[in-house]
Amino acid sequence: MINPTLQGALNRQINMELAAAYVYLGMSTYFEKENLSGFGNWCMVQYQEEQQHAMRLLNYLQDRDGTVELAAIEAPKVDYASPLEVFQAALIQEQDNTRSINELYEQASSLNDHATISHLQWFLDEQVEEEKTVSEIVSLVERAANDVSALLYLNDKLGARSASSAPDE
Ligand code: MG
Repeated sequence: MINPTLQGALNRQINMELAAAYVYLGMSTYFEKENLSGFGNWCMVQYQEEQQHAMRLLNYLQDRDGTVELAAIEAPKVDYASPLEVFQAALIQEQDNTRSINELYEQASSLNDHATISHLQWFLDEQVEEEKTVSEIVSLVERAANDVSALLYLNDKLGARSASSAPDE
């Protein structure tokens, strides 16, 4: 049986992953409206990944005989001022998520819950990748700010991303 405090924290993380997914879906609709469907595609793949993260945690909690609690998810922002604003917001979201995973890891460690520590290892590695990828995009979009052809090139590049080719999920 899993520690009730840790169970609560895992449920909050499930909600956080689903909320992150919903934010990426909102970002994707912004890009579709702006006819930047390559960026939109990237956000849509990200939406699917975040849902998979939630499912990893949900399945784990169930495997541990825990109780899943599904909380409400806030409506995401769908209007942004620019592609740069989107990716800056995405970076902040990923940084918040890393912080949350770290706290979860510390909690599992203090409770000597080795199985949860092991399960969270994947998430720690994943967050390193997520932050690296998004901060690279922020930096490229920043540089393309006043150059439409550079922005369209990035749009094409991000449009090539597919869910199956993404590393790990
Ligand atoms: Mg995630």
